[in-house]
Amino acid sequence: MMKRLRKNGFLAFVVIAYIGLFIINKEKAILSIKNSGYYIKEMLTVMPLVFLLTALIDTWIPQETIMDYLGDGSGVKGSFISIFLGSISAGPIYAAFPVCKTLLRKGASIFNIVVILSSWAVIKIPMLANEARFLSPKFMAIRWVFTTIGIIIMGYMVSKVVKRDDIPIEEEAIEHGKILIKEEYCIGCGICAKIAPGYFEIENNRAIAIDENIHGGVDDDVDKAEEKCPTRAIAISK
Ligand code: SF4
Repeated sequence: MMKRLRKNGFLAFVVIAYIGLFIINKEKAILSIKNSGYYIKEMLTVMPLVFLLTALIDTWIPQETIMDYLGDGSGVKGSFISIFLGSISAGPIYAAFPVCKTLLRKGASIFNIVVILSSWAVIKIPMLANEARFLSPKFMAIRWVFTTIGIIIMGYMVSKVVKRDDIPIEEEAIEHGKILIKEEYCIGCGICAKIAPGYFEIENNRAIAIDENIHGGVDDDVDKAEEKCPTRAIAISK
């Protein structure tokens, strides 16, 4: 029970807030529930499509492609692609989060994720078209230039402060005392086998753990292999 409450802490907080509001001001509580209902309805119409899109990215776009075009080494090309992806997107910003999480899991860099999210939020093409109509093309163009510069600076700053390990990407439960190689993320680069040959080897272009059990503490080499794996395919439960 406590574990569940901890896991759904925010939801529990919202329920308590509603109960409190009901006691203090019934009218406002009803209005608030109506507003929440509106957003829940909107989410229910948008999210199935979003999950379909994330499933398609997961299944059809190879990890190498995402790493090449949006990964840490994608450079200016990655920035352009990220701005483009964010700008042509449709739907509310919360729809971007599951998509970005999937891209991140498949090797996109933090920098590019920030650029996609920010472009999605503030320089979407339909938004620019309306802006030009109501506030003039000049206003729209100048705002676009400064906003894009701001997005790039923000992406750089966030990528310096937030690291992959700060983001809860892992969803698989790892058994205690085990080394897990997530096959779907492994690109068979062989880095792990070079760093920790006693623990990893490459078979059919994928890494396998020679011995998946950790005996008496994790070897430094295994830690290093986990850290250096470019796709975060190695997970260790210590
Ligand atoms: S370092 Fe990572 S991606 Fe490369 S072979 Fe090992 S597990 Fe696979």
